Amino acid sequence: MPLVVQKFGGTSVADSEKILSAARKAIRAQQEGNQVVMVVSAMGHNTDQLIDLAGQVNETPPAREMDMLLSTGEQVSVALMAMAVHSLGHRAVSLNAAQLGIQTDSSFTKARIRTISPERIRKLLEAGNIVIAAGFQGIDEDLNITTLGRGGSDTTAVALAAVLHADACEIHTDVDGVYTTDPRQLPEARQMSRIEYGEMLELASLGASVMHNRSIEFAKKYGVPIHVRSSFSDTRGTLIASQSESETASVCGAAMTRDEARITVQGLPDRPGVSHELFKLLAEHKITVDMIVQNIGQEERADISFTVPKSELQSAKQVVQTAVTEIGATGWTHDDDVSKISVVGAGMADQTGVAQKMFRALADAEINIQMITTSEIKISVLVEKSQALAALRAVHSTFGLQNTPTDAATWDRLPERTASEADLQKLVADLQAADMEQLSLSDIDLAEDQARMTLSGVPDRPGLAADVFDAVAAAGVFVDMIVQSYDGFQGETSLSFTIPRTQYDDCKAILDSLAQSYSLRKVSASREIAKLSVSGIGMRSHTNVAIGMFEVLAANGINVEMINTSELRVNVVVEGSSGSRGLACLKQQFSSQLN
Ligand code: ADP
Ligand code: ASP
Ligand code: MG
Repeated sequence: MPLVVQKFGGTSVADSEKILSAARKAIRAQQEGNQVVMVVSAMGHNTDQLIDLAGQVNETPPAREMDMLLSTGEQVSVALMAMAVHSLGHRAVSLNAAQLGIQTDSSFTKARIRTISPERIRKLLEAGNIVIAAGFQGIDEDLNITTLGRGGSDTTAVALAAVLHADACEIHTDVDGVYTTDPRQLPEARQMSRIEYGEMLELASLGASVMHNRSIEFAKKYGVPIHVRSSFSDTRGTLIASQSESETASVCGAAMTRDEARITVQGLPDRPGVSHELFKLLAEHKITVDMIVQNIGQEERADISFTVPKSELQSAKQVVQTAVTEIGATGWTHDDDVSKISVVGAGMADQTGVAQKMFRALADAEINIQMITTSEIKISVLVEKSQALAALRAVHSTFGLQNTPTDAATWDRLPERTASEADLQKLVADLQAADMEQLSLSDIDLAEDQARMTLSGVPDRPGLAADVFDAVAAAGVFVDMIVQSYDGFQGETSLSFTIPRTQYDDCKAILDSLAQSYSLRKVSASREIAKLSVSGIGMRSHTNVAIGMFEVLAANGINVEMINTSELRVNVVVEGSSGSRGLACLKQQFSSQLN
């Protein structure tokens, strides 16, 4: 019999009427011939209220007790949901994490799922019950209650769908599907018919809170198609699976993280291992670091800038202060009045001029770009917070995201799961035996066909990045990694990017002439660079990949010139002559995690 997992978010179970209406949906799915597992979040803003209450009692509540408290929200809603199903004349059993057998590690407030035992759920389903699972929670080895991080019920739902090999995983929420950007920020946002896992993963991590990012890691790893749809209607929503909506569009969506903070550490000794020491300390304190940009060292010293969520700035500041002293940097600055705007699209990996278009739109809106980072499928910029919404609107409009792409793929039914019964049993056994959220690496690569260009002493004003990339794109140069650093002291920034080595001379000539007309301080370039990449699933939540890369390269005396990170890949640029040695080191370091 087909099995469907239906998840209902907080707004969808905010009061008794909504609980009854969700119960009716589940009953209908059962009457249509499915076994039904519901995953339910805490009612309305209950989790926020509990966090607020905790703060009134203790400014820094112990994480274990926080989870004890927060898990109560979901316990209330599953019980009420089961009662609602009963009142409508059907059978249901509610289960909390311990009863569901969702075992996690012990990182309270951000626990990771290790295993799930589906036997009890299966028995209850076979007896004709609708099983109602508490989202967001788990138990650790010592039976402590844990939670998976805000928005984590999505992850419970997708993990259950994987382990039960469900035919459908429906995320019922308060919007009709996944939009090109948050429709509450930009009313012109458009609902997409479908989106590819990698794209959704980036968007979710860059601010599209409609899905918990780790749920998408699960979905990609175990091939679970997800249907995001409205809990208040029956219209078709958005399918998250292995195909993008459009094969030709370079960008599928835009996202904003409004509350970011930038930290710049200045005057780092330019020797291998320095960035490793800094990021290792930050990781040890579980600080989420993004947009790492390192200037090419000048006078034996380098600056490094990165962003952290504003909510983590306080703890980050303490760590940075310690690191600065230990490493021997000259100082550090921070700014908590910044926002991150990103565009995402699988199509940008092989199209030219995408970055240029984004920078031009921002320049036309007179928005200054403070930092830039890119990866294969995303471009992020840091802007002043007061300009964040205008920046989001400008990039959304320049890529025409409000219009349906002419080649947009639609869908009628969910992709079929084609595995044989034997395969299914093996998958379930593997899932139960393994650490479900463990890091899974797919590739370690070396690219030796690129060159680097660096502009230093770039005036920090709107339009410069746009002018530079306009000129570069006009010459048909394909730009890959881009980083623009922040240098608040002198009102200058520096801009580095990589290009195909074959276009080195053309590009250098363009930059030399630009440097003159814009009075830039210096153009430095390197014909021979090597790009080392590690890719897989879980790269960002397992920060130890980036750290491990820095560590092993430093230990072998290899200096990292540029870094870029995404959900599915970490790239570093090193000197050309160190490429194959770097590759060998990385292979040795990560061989056990390769699959
Ligand atoms: P739930 O409680 O159902 O889990 P969430 O509040 O976590 O719901 O997620 C739904 C919200 O996500 C929407 O109300 C919307 O404001 C926000 N959102 C952010 N980005 C997007 C996007 N790209 N598409 C759709 N919704 C988005
Ligand atoms: N109730 C939790 C939260 O508000 C989990 C969830 O809703 O997904 O974060
Ligand atoms: Mg949510």
